[in-house]
Amino acid sequence: MEKLKVLNLSDLKTGETGIITKVVGHGAFRKRITEMGFVKGKKVKVIKNAPLQDPVEYEIMDYKVSLRRTEAQLVEVIAADKTNFIEDVKFEGTIDEETLKLTAGEKSRTINVALVGNPNSGKTTLYNFASGSHERVGNYGGVTVDAREATFKQSSYTFKIVDLPGTYSITEYTPEELFVRTHITEKNPDIIVNVIDASNLERNLYLTTQLIDMNIKVVIALNMYDELEKKNAKLDYKALGKMIGIPIIPTVASKGKGISELFDKLIEVYEDKDTIVRHIHINYGNNIETAIAHIQILIKENKEITDKFSSRYLAIKLLETDSATLNQLSQCSNIEKIKKQIETEIKILEKEYKEKSGTIITDAKYGFIAGALNETFKPCIEGKRKKITQIDDFLTHRFFGFPIFIFFMWLMFQVTFTVGSYPMDLIDSGVGWLGELIENSMAEGPLRDLLVDGIIGGVGGVIIFLPNILILFFFISFMEDTGYMARASFIMDKLMHKIGLHGKSFIPMLMGFGCNVPAIMATRTLENKKDRLLTMMIIPLMSCSARLPVYVLLISTFFPENQGLVLISIYIIGVIVAVLVALAMKKILFAKQDVPFVMELPPYRIPTLKNTSIHMWHKGAQYIKKMGSVILLASIIIWALGYFPRNVKYSANYDEQIAVIKSDNNLTDSLKKEQSNKIELIKQSEKQEKSYIGQMGHFIEPVIRPLGFDWKIGVSIITGLAAKEIVVSTMGVLYQADFSNNESSANMQNRLKEQTFSQGELKGQKVFTPLTAYAMMLFVLIYFPCIAVIAAIKKESDIKWAVFTMIYTTGLAWLIAFLTYQIGSLFI
Ligand code: GDP
Ligand code: MG
Repeated sequence: MEKLKVLNLSDLKTGETGIITKVVGHGAFRKRITEMGFVKGKKVKVIKNAPLQDPVEYEIMDYKVSLRRTEAQLVEVIAADKTNFIEDVKFEGTIDEETLKLTAGEKSRTINVALVGNPNSGKTTLYNFASGSHERVGNYGGVTVDAREATFKQSSYTFKIVDLPGTYSITEYTPEELFVRTHITEKNPDIIVNVIDASNLERNLYLTTQLIDMNIKVVIALNMYDELEKKNAKLDYKALGKMIGIPIIPTVASKGKGISELFDKLIEVYEDKDTIVRHIHINYGNNIETAIAHIQILIKENKEITDKFSSRYLAIKLLETDSATLNQLSQCSNIEKIKKQIETEIKILEKEYKEKSGTIITDAKYGFIAGALNETFKPCIEGKRKKITQIDDFLTHRFFGFPIFIFFMWLMFQVTFTVGSYPMDLIDSGVGWLGELIENSMAEGPLRDLLVDGIIGGVGGVIIFLPNILILFFFISFMEDTGYMARASFIMDKLMHKIGLHGKSFIPMLMGFGCNVPAIMATRTLENKKDRLLTMMIIPLMSCSARLPVYVLLISTFFPENQGLVLISIYIIGVIVAVLVALAMKKILFAKQDVPFVMELPPYRIPTLKNTSIHMWHKGAQYIKKMGSVILLASIIIWALGYFPRNVKYSANYDEQIAVIKSDNNLTDSLKKEQSNKIELIKQSEKQEKSYIGQMGHFIEPVIRPLGFDWKIGVSIITGLAAKEIVVSTMGVLYQADFSNNESSANMQNRLKEQTFSQGELKGQKVFTPLTAYAMMLFVLIYFPCIAVIAAIKKESDIKWAVFTMIYTTGLAWLIAFLTYQIGSLFI
């Protein structure tokens, strides 16, 4: 049965049939073609294959399918036609299908294996042991670059093993490297065995990262395992394998240990039965990932290329200015465009990092290795350490790591609020000045009211938080740029695992304290969809800075004694609720086992002020966009809902009362002003109550009454849907606090204390007690984040999760406020 030779499907002529033995090729192509039925053992017939004609038509499993010629080249078959017999064998009539199938089965049980690894990692020793041959063992010297091939049988499978020259990398600097690479890309071995010297993991794994990029099937032979054990070092190779998606088998090639396990594993992987195998992406950091994505788009226009190679791999190689890859793509129709794109991307990268693009990528690869080993590898005590690992040992230390981290967090928030308060005051007075300017220079009327109360009042109330947010983002960017953020994730990883998340989720969550919108966007750095969704779902529970004004107002009014403590309690409750929600969701919605992955430890860098500022600005731009769009629109709508209808029937003639005061000669001017202002506010408040928004507040009052809220709080909550900052400005209007007055906050506080219910069984009783205030803060903390966040969730996942977030947060907020108020009422 060894008489039939393997052909490419494209070699079959019209009318011929063949049995598929193998599908080579890549990614999307491979998936598509196997879905169409091109799997091994299946019969395929050529319907029409004219030379030079594309596509070729085939029949498989009673379906007609056309494939491009380049695609058909990637399917291997054996055929029943006599021309396909090896010459010296006599042809004895037609071959029945049974024989063909049997032969195909045999052929598909031939596994092509290539040994790839650093020089002196033990490839030849392994090869010799498996094949029984006696090749010269030792350092691979000399100029002849050659590969030896041998066969080896184990459990009904035949292995064709190729021993390739040793290389540290598969770039193009030496003939060996190019040889190895060409072998992998042109000969398409079924599986690469990456032989690794266990006593020198870091350097050996570098080559592995390149194989990971290539997205090919790899099994690691963790050779010289005896050396590792002798040194008393410990490697959790099972965990490492799971993280990088490559099975790892410890071997001692010189003693033949682990070799049969290795080949068993090869069979399992070949038959797609291994559960560890999975393609991972090494995260090269935002800037490089963006560049990769841009180039990938252009490469993907060339199907004949992406059928064979991973577009990501090609893009990475191109960014490394690898000329062999560029040659490979020279046939592409858009090669000029690709070249131009690479040039632009490299220019951007090199300007940013002040380093060659290849170096940046290498650094990132070592960051990946450092991260992988930090979690799985314990070297012997007396081993020499590099300086960088000493810093890492300190910053990610079991005991010190956490306090150091807490200190940085504390510093960040402290600076954010103390330093931020100066520009905040400046902007505040600027906004006030602008409002006054317009008020004085324009004629009275709806347009002026829209500008002053709607737009400047609404957007202005939000823009004052911009400095805080920019400072917070500056810190976060700084920590990211130095490489500390990756270490922070590392420290948090254990804790985050307990709630079903990874350390990497921590960064987006942290950003959530600034503004949830960029935080949601930052979840992109998470590879796993489940982690991404889960993180997105709980980010709204991180109390963003927009909620702070609400807390500040209520706390300063009702908890003057323990301000700091109460404020922290709110933030902590947010985090606790997030943890509980994550635990619940993990159980109910994402009840799948999670896959471990590597957390990169990128090299430390001293960032330039300019770069960090640019990164800060990228994040801050989101916030500014939110003000220009959602908040502006919402401010106008809320203003309009409060402004109309105009023809309100007031319960008293306020204008007349004001006129009476103004004409009263017994009063001083300032007293006149004070009294008429008071009446004006009462009038405004009645107008608000009778306006559309007031009607809405009354409408939802029955729902929020059990929480101890009245209709005014209801209105504030509704307006807060647009942005939480608006809650306070709405309260300002509803509780008739005169913000043009310097004592505005004191004024507002008194007003809040004096509020009574206007109707219902509690009529006449005080609305606000410390308990209601606390319940309200919890409600504001948890309910509907804001429109911009919901939009961001929709953009990053889909509408389903956006709707889910709206419902679950609001429901949960109600429940928690309800419990707080009702249970609290029993005691107070
Ligand atoms: P190659 O360059 O990758 O082909 O490596 P070789 O197969 O030539 O091996 C280099 C040296 O390592 C030889 O002296 C081998 O005897 C030795 N060697 C190979 N495998 C092992 C192993 O598992 N343990 C130990 N201690 N030595 C090994
Ligand atoms: Mg060798």
